[in-house]
Amino acid sequence: MKTLDQIVEFHGHICPGLVLGYRVSMLALKELGERAEDEELVAIVENNSCAVDAVQVMTGCTFGKGNLIFRDFGKQVYTFIKRPSGDGLRIAITWESPPETGEEKKMWEKYMRGERSDEVIKAVHDRKSRKIDAILHASDEGLFNIRKGKMDLPEEAEIYPSLRCVACGEKVMEPRARIKNGKIVCIPCQEIL
Ligand SMILES: [Zn+2]
Ligand SMILES: [Zn+2]
Repeated sequence: MKTLDQIVEFHGHICPGLVLGYRVSMLALKELGERAEDEELVAIVENNSCAVDAVQVMTGCTFGKGNLIFRDFGKQVYTFIKRPSGDGLRIAITWESPPETGEEKKMWEKYMRGERSDEVIKAVHDRKSRKIDAILHASDEGLFNIRKGKMDLPEEAEIYPSLRCVACGEKVMEPRARIKNGKIVCIPCQEIL
């Protein structure tokens, strides 16, 4: 299992979103088994937040392999499905950060106005650390709404032949090629031609 340090190294910083993704992925691996070397596990993510980087590192469901599917719904929902069985796990984040104190709110407002004094930086940093801590120590039930069962598998990633765009001469995979005035073009050339 990948460590939180390895995930932070990939993502670039530690933040509450990343740690939520870490907890989501831990649960997915606990319930569904190993990290995906190929496409034996598929993740469907409904946002493109920091959490998704943790999902990629931990579960091996990555953008490049095609077993990370992004549905742009703006929801904190992560679904994992095993191939070929269709055994799935849907995790919706229900966790809410503890309410800010009046002092924290004041500091945050200063930060948003661009103030970077030691006092403001420390307050913002402490608040973030407390959130991260709370996420790391919460129970799964305290973080998520979890549903298990058989789920529909999305199509497997396919390999397509390439065509050559007559305008720029570069290759483009067939389903993305367009026909303009009877000629094969790529999407960027279609838009400028
Ligand atoms: Zn982040
Ligand atoms: Zn082109």
